[in-house]
This record gives sequence, structure tokens and C-alpha cells, in this order.
Amino acid sequence: MAINIKRPNGTEDVIPRDAHKWHTVEKVARETAESYGFGEIRTPTFENTDLFLRSVGETTDVVQKEMYTVIAKETKFTLRPEGTAGAIRAMLQNGLLNEALPQRVYYVTSCFRHERPQAGRLREFHQFGVEMAGSPSPAADAEVISLAKKILDRLEIKNIELRVNSIGCPVCRAKYHQALRAYFEARKEELCETCQERLEKNPMRILDCKSPICKEIAKDAPVILDYLCEECSDHFEKFKGYLGKLGISYTVDPKIVRGLDYYTKTVFEFVTTEIGAQGTVCGGGRYDGLIEQLGGQHVPALGFGMGLERLLLVMDKQGSEFLSPKKCDIYFATMGDAALERAMELSSQLREFGYFAEFDLMQRGLKPQMKYANKIGAAFTMVLGDNELTEGKAKLKEMESGEETVVSLDNKFETVFEEIYFNKMMNAMDDGSNPLFAFTGEDK
Ligand code: ATP
Ligand code: MG
Repeated sequence: MAINIKRPNGTEDVIPRDAHKWHTVEKVARETAESYGFGEIRTPTFENTDLFLRSVGETTDVVQKEMYTVIAKETKFTLRPEGTAGAIRAMLQNGLLNEALPQRVYYVTSCFRHERPQAGRLREFHQFGVEMAGSPSPAADAEVISLAKKILDRLEIKNIELRVNSIGCPVCRAKYHQALRAYFEARKEELCETCQERLEKNPMRILDCKSPICKEIAKDAPVILDYLCEECSDHFEKFKGYLGKLGISYTVDPKIVRGLDYYTKTVFEFVTTEIGAQGTVCGGGRYDGLIEQLGGQHVPALGFGMGLERLLLVMDKQGSEFLSPKKCDIYFATMGDAALERAMELSSQLREFGYFAEFDLMQRGLKPQMKYANKIGAAFTMVLGDNELTEGKAKLKEMESGEETVVSLDNKFETVFEEIYFNKMMNAMDDGSNPLFAFTGEDK
């Protein structure tokens, strides 16, 4: 029987040619988060299953249908379906909540959900996420959204809309649940099986059901905003006021309830219509009860998760610019063993200075070596043979202009190379082109 060596459905490879796209998004996200005072947290890929049951919620799609759980030596573990539970668990376990508040962490992490794979919906996907713990203030809600917005703006994402809502606290939700039950009870028979169960346990989950029939029935359901208590309503008004002050435009969408149970008060999504049905690029909100639910003190918290595959889909669609992948600065074409050894030494010297240097490892002739140098877009080349070694000099060729400079191969080589390289960069700047892109061989 042939061994199946294809990757599992709903997973993706990132090959070196595309890695710079990920690096761009991750760099922008990390740097922006750090400028808001967030520090990186790394947690295990799997956690005790109970952690997700307790936090994500037993009536959610994630817990009911999507978790990858393994039993190892009678203990149940689950591959993380989202980042918040693990991050909060780690903040508690490492005592971060006893330090100065607010505590702010971010992560770039893989998540696993057994869903039907389609564009923008994978079984292993990646999230950039943040968590802030300690502040009950609506200013914190605005701050977290402003961070997400800044990342999207720096990546120059266009046509993306911020939708906000408040889903209240347990006090207002009790009244709202009653109203929802009364509404759905009348059409109970038409609801999908899962939602019939939810009607009893957690009727708000029906609003998040993906079944078209349940969606249709939910259209005229009562909205939570009509049931907010004074405190939640006040929080929501102040929060919207801060968004206004920050110049962040938004629409209120009373239908957003979010797919995980732990949310309270503010919830939000950044949505685009440009990548089909899976248009939610970022989702988040406040979860004031979560830390307590996981065994900590009452510490209000909030955050968001940004789907990196979806973000990259949007960027590809919009023809966004990415940081250029590093290209070869100098390629040594060699003839003979002695020249190869010299190329090894020179490359090693230049790499000490951070240059990207390469030489032939394929035992090719001179012509195919030069062809290869062209193909990889080397900025400079240098041919080394017996003559060059005897004379201690060789021609350094700038590939774009074809200009050649004879340079000495002595121990000043890297200083001379640096000078010539620097001049090239300066000329590129004089052209008005961006020096960051000057050596990539790409048209910018
Ligand atoms: P959706 O309604 O699209 O299923 P969700 O509410 O389940 O999203 P969250 O749990 O809030 O999503 O996760 C935050 C973000 O992670 C989403 O906004 C999305 O960008 C991304 N995401 C969620 N599930 C997937 C998936 N299966 N594949 C790719 N990205 C995903
Ligand atoms: Mg989902």
C-alpha cells in the first residue's frame, strides 16, 4: 500500500518563496503590539481539555464539533482551538496578575479546529492575538481596538469595516435569554438539532448558528442592546465615545454575539467582503468573568484574535506590498578547487558582516554558474580562478549596470566591498527608489 505523504486536509505549507509575506505581517503585528506595551507570551500547543470546556463553553461549535482531543495515558488533551484560554491560564499560573496591571500579552500561534476546509477556513490556522487583563475601563476596549486597527492600517488593508456590539453581563443577559427563549420557542421545531438543545442551555448561541434555516429564523429575534443594564449601557456609550475621539469609524451590529462563550460587554469584528464568505479577519471583545472562571480573582480582561491566513488572503487580493525577501548580495563563480576554497573563506568573511554570500555547490561550469547568479538575482558577482588567486585581485561585477571594479582579495576585501555596496545603495536612493527594495531585482 502506498504511504499517504500528502498534508492533511485543511492544512497549508509555507514555502521559502512565500515566507516573507508571513514575516511582514508578523513583524508589523509584533512591533505595533509592543508599541502599545504588549509583550510576547508562548504557551503549549496543547492544554488539558477541561481548560477549553471551562472557558470556550460547552455549547459552542468549537467545543461541540471542532476540537482535536487526544487521550494519552488516561489524560485528555486538546490542541488549542484559540489563544485566549492558554494565555490566561499561563498568566494565572505564572503569577502575572499579581504584578503591575494592566498585564498585556500578545502571541502568534497556530490554532486547530475540525471544520469543513474552504478558502479562509482551515483546520490548522494561525492567529495573532492579544490579551489585556486588569482594566474594567471602556478606554481599554478602545485601546485594544485601536491596536488592531493600527496593524490593519500599517499593512494598508483597505475596505475593512469595524462592527461593534455589547452582549452585556450576566445580569442583563438573564433577561435577554428569557426574551430569546420566548421568541425561538414558537419556532422550535424548525431549528437544527444543535440549536434545539441550545434553546434550553444557551439560547444566545442560536444567533451564531451557521445553518441557513436557523439564520433566517434568528433574523427578527430580540436584540441584546434593548436589554442592557445601566452599567453595560454606560460602558458601551463611553466606549463608542472613545472610538469617536480616536477617529475610528464603526457600525453597531446588534447581531454580533461571537463564537465563544466567555465574552461580556464589548464584542467586535473587522470584516471585509473581499475574500468571500469567511470575511471576519479579526474578532474580539471583553471577557470580564473568564479569569475568575478559570480559578483566579475577579480581574476584567479583553483581547482579540486576528486570522493571519485571512489577512494574507486580503493582502494578496489587494496587491499589497510585502517586505522583500533577502536576496543574494554576492555570488562567487569559481573555477577549480583552490578558487572554491577561497570563495568559502571570502563568503565566510562577508557573512560576518551580515552579507548574503553564495558560491557554487553544484560543481557547475562557469556559464551555468553565471546563469544561476542571474536567476537568484545576485547584486554582485565575482569570478575566481587560478589567475585571480595568483594575482590576488579579481573583478567585482555589479550585475544591474554591468560595471566592473578590480578589487584586491587581501584582508581589506570586505571593507572595499562594503564601500562599493554602500555606493550602490546611495545611487538607488538618488533614483528615488526605496533602498530597501533596491537589491531585490523586483520592480517596485
Ligand atoms: P468564524 O465565524 O469565521 O468561524 P470565529 O468566530 O470562529 O470565526 P474566532 O474564534 O473569533 O473566530 O477567531 C478569531 C479569528 O481567527 C477569526 O476572525 C478568523 O479570522 C480566524 N479564524 C477562525 N477560525 C478559522 C479557521 N478555521 N481558519 C482560518 N481562520 C480562522
Ligand atoms: Mg468558527
